[in-house]
Amino acid sequence: MSDAFLHQLRDTLHQIDADGLYKRERLIATPQMTHVQVDGRDVINLCANNYLGLADHPALVAAATQAMESHGFGMASVRFICGTQDMHRTLETRLAQYLGTDDSILFAACFDANGAVFEPLLGPEDAVISDALNHASIIDGIRLCKARRYRYANSDMDDLEMQLKAARAQGARHVMIATDGVFSMDGTLARLPEIRALADQYEAVLMVDDCHATGFIGPQGRGTPAHFGLRADILTGTLGKALGGALGGYIAGPQPVIDLLRQRARPYLFSNALPPAIVAAGIAALDLVARADDLRAQLFDNAAYWRAGLAAAGFDLLAGEHPIIPVMLHDAHRAQAMAARLFELGVYVAPFFFPVVPKGQARIRTQMNAALTRKDLDQALAAFAQAGRDTGVLA
Ligand SMILES: *Cc1c(COP(=O)(O)O)cnc(C)c1O
Repeated sequence: MSDAFLHQLRDTLHQIDADGLYKRERLIATPQMTHVQVDGRDVINLCANNYLGLADHPALVAAATQAMESHGFGMASVRFICGTQDMHRTLETRLAQYLGTDDSILFAACFDANGAVFEPLLGPEDAVISDALNHASIIDGIRLCKARRYRYANSDMDDLEMQLKAARAQGARHVMIATDGVFSMDGTLARLPEIRALADQYEAVLMVDDCHATGFIGPQGRGTPAHFGLRADILTGTLGKALGGALGGYIAGPQPVIDLLRQRARPYLFSNALPPAIVAAGIAALDLVARADDLRAQLFDNAAYWRAGLAAAGFDLLAGEHPIIPVMLHDAHRAQAMAARLFELGVYVAPFFFPVVPKGQARIRTQMNAALTRKDLDQALAAFAQAGRDTGVLA
């Protein structure tokens, strides 16, 4: 390895830092919950994807512990060699029942599920049309497949129709539309009723990544398609957010889709099976979530209260009802300064800036959790107002 190589990497790192884009990780010394201990300080946590507060739930911890006793620690195999336990199939069946699909297939993460879903299903004769704000894993998954690629501006239905027409005009055999159910940086829902109608009109397959919805959006938390009373053809999702927050992803859909993915999806064929503890806790999470109307009501109550409080304090928010509530600061340095001041005031939030969001759209993405109390929210609102004044964000 030449000095020049490491030298160039150091230069890149210096430039990232100089641009205010360097990400530093804080160390949490407690389980993931509403109050965490970080760098020796007790802070209110407003940046986890722990929507229903299940990440430290005793029922999930008990299910994971029990599964390690009964099924061991690791699988030391991919699924098709000797890595499939009874529990893996139980979780796949339960996910499919919950989501209203024929079947589902597990992956190590939704990043892998999105990396897996396009390549086996679409060939060079086909087309895939993707929303410009889709998650990085969808973008990468599409890069891995040979279908012709089309992109439409975020939630722009005229643009989507233009891309559908273009794909059809260029003779595509099959067309797939890929969208996030909820756009994770903005907290906005995809316009699924219009997307579904266009998909039907142009005979396209509709794929929805519902990571920021499954468990808490729609009836029984069945996701954005259920919220709008319609069906997606293929769903991808994660166990790493509302469904316990550990790890694991899945694809759910019609039987031939799942069967072909089990034969051909590379992240499935060439990567380890999920461990028993994660699988058992996933099943326990589904048991809880199907009956969690109280937690969902509390979550949306918290979101409305928090949003109204921030708006009253004078912050620039993106409109919406999702428990993702972004506070727009536009400038990366300013977002970093605001997050640092909030931390001093006992509130843990993360600044988001390029490349995670476009340049000039830096923000602090706050996220609500059903376990946050009014007292937590009032304390956090006071800290936001104080930090806003201290950093010059508020007049
Ligand atoms: C979090 C997220 C993913 C990745 O999920 P993991 O299971 O953590 O890999 C994929 N898509 C979207 C929209 C996400 O928000």
